[in-house]
Amino acid sequence: MKILIVEDEPKTGDYLRQGLSEAGFVVDLVRTGPDGLHLGQTGDYDLLILDVMLPGLDGWQILQSLRSEGKDMPVLFLTARDQVEDRVRGLELGADDYLVKPFAFTELLARVRTLLRRSKSAQPQNTLQVADLELDLLRRRVSRAGRKIDLTAKEFALLELFMRRQGEVLPRALIASQVWDMNFDSDTNVVEVAVRRLRAKVDDAFEPKLIRTVRGMGYVLEAASSA
Ligand code: CA
Repeated sequence: MKILIVEDEPKTGDYLRQGLSEAGFVVDLVRTGPDGLHLGQTGDYDLLILDVMLPGLDGWQILQSLRSEGKDMPVLFLTARDQVEDRVRGLELGADDYLVKPFAFTELLARVRTLLRRSKSAQPQNTLQVADLELDLLRRRVSRAGRKIDLTAKEFALLELFMRRQGEVLPRALIASQVWDMNFDSDTNVVEVAVRRLRAKVDDAFEPKLIRTVRGMGYVLEAASSA
C-alpha cells in the first residue's frame, strides 16, 4: 500500500513518514503543493494525506484538480484550522476524512486503515468464482481447475449471468432476455442449445457438475450441486 504525504511542516511530515513506514506502508513525502499535485497525478497512490496550507497550491486545489481528472483514491486532510467551514469545504470537494492538528498518530493510523479498507471493498469485482470455475471479466477469460476454457461471446455472457446469480434458478425467458436481448419465444430452443454447449465446456470434463436443469423452471449454477 502506497501513501503520499503532502506536508510542508518539516517535523509533522517526517513524523508521519516515519510512523507510516514503520506501520508497513510505502511512503512518499513532498513539501509543496505543485510537487504534491504532480505526484498525485502520476504516482499511483492508494491514499493521499494532504495538509491544507501549502506553498504553491493549497490542499484543496490539489484535491480539486485530482478529482476533476478522475483520480478517486481516498484523501485524508490535515488541518490546523479547526473551523466548521473548512471541514465542510474539504468534504464538499471530495475529501474522505480530515484530522485537526495536533492529532495523535494512533488516531491517524486508524483513519488511514479505515479509508483503505473502505476503498478496497468499493472496487468493482473483476473475477467471479464458483468452486474451481473462474471467470475474469476484464480479460474475458474462463478457466476451471486451472484449465483454460474457450467460450463464444454468447456463452461467456450466459456463464457470467449464471455466476452472478449463482444458486438462483433462472427461467429460460429471463436468460433469453438477458443474454440475447429478446423476448422468449417458445418455438426457439436457443437457450437450451446454448446451455447444452456451455455445459459441455465447463462441466463435462469436471466434477462436480455446476450447472443443473430444474425441470419446468430453468437452470441453476451452484457449487453444492447434488446432481
Ligand atoms: Ca502547512
